[in-house]
Amino acid sequence: MAYKISDECLACGACAAGCPVECITEGDGKYVIDPEQCIECGSCAEVCPVGAPQLEE
Ligand code: SF4
Ligand code: SF4
Repeated sequence: MAYKISDECLACGACAAGCPVECITEGDGKYVIDPEQCIECGSCAEVCPVGAPQLEE
């Protein structure tokens, strides 16, 4: 499992700045998480103003 950023993303960059493994990068109109590197710490979900990062099954 890994966190995934939904289309709600405003591309503010707050999640990427706080990710301990730096696996969040700016994509096409929103930020994206590399599922191979995500350690499911939940930091991105906590800092996101719109709750875009969500844990995927
Ligand atoms: Fe990074 Fe943690 Fe979010 Fe995974 S859950 S993308 S490791 S901040
Ligand atoms: Fe998008 Fe939320 Fe990350 Fe901001 S903190 S870039 S709104 S996922």
